[in-house]
Formats: sequence, structure tokens, C-alpha cells
Amino acid sequence: MTVKSYSLKINTNKSFEIIDITSQINNLIDIDEGIISIFSKHSTSAIVVNENESGLLNDLEFTLNNLIDDKFSYEHDRIDNNAKSHLKSFLLSSSESLPIKNSKLDLGTWQSVFFIELDGPRSGRTVTLTMVGE
Ligand code: ZN
Repeated sequence: MTVKSYSLKINTNKSFEIIDITSQINNLIDIDEGIISIFSKHSTSAIVVNENESGLLNDLEFTLNNLIDDKFSYEHDRIDNNAKSHLKSFLLSSSESLPIKNSKLDLGTWQSVFFIELDGPRSGRTVTLTMVGE
């Protein structure tokens, strides 16, 4: 059994941005078969698996903005004024564990892996990839 770790550095350009990182991850996979953990080291971002269809990605932003709305006041805003970014991250996830087969992510036909920026723009967002397998 082998364990391998890599850091993916991601720069973002907008306050809310969905970035497909599937091919970057596939390029870093260097085990044949196993499991990969994809983990964002930030509390105002997310890692999710879903379909890369532009309308759907706009729908996700629309839905999150309707749930976590400016009309509410949030306690965390007293600290650093980004409660909405943290709350969106709570509703999503900071990591995904996915199967590796034939040295690639074993995703379904319509699935991609996304890094979601919820409090950008930021430079040097870090996503840790940890592979276990052989
Ligand atoms: Zn904060």
C-alpha cells in the first residue's frame, strides 16, 4: 500500500467562483487503484462533485444566495464580515473521498470535481490531495 500527498494551489478571481479541478487532480494521480481525499484547507470554500453545466452552476449560486440572504444579519459579521461565505461552506463540504481506477478518478459520466470559492478573490487557496492505494 502506498500513501501520496500533494497540494494544489488555486487562485480565484471572483467573490463566488466554481472551478472544475477534475483534470488537475487526474494529472496528479500516480497510483493505479485506491482512494483519494480532496480537502480544502479553508472555511470559506468547498469541494463538491456535480455536473459541469453552466446553467446548473449559476443555479447553485442563485440557490445559495437565496438561502443565505443579505436581508438577515449574522453574528459572525462582527468579527470579519464574511458570515455568508462561512455559512455557504457549512452547507456544502470541505472534502470529498473518491475512488481511483486505472490511475484516474472513477467518476460517473456527468460528474466533475469542483473547488468553490465563497469569499474571493483569493490567491493561494490550498487543496490537499491524499491518495491511498497501490
Ligand atoms: Zn470569518
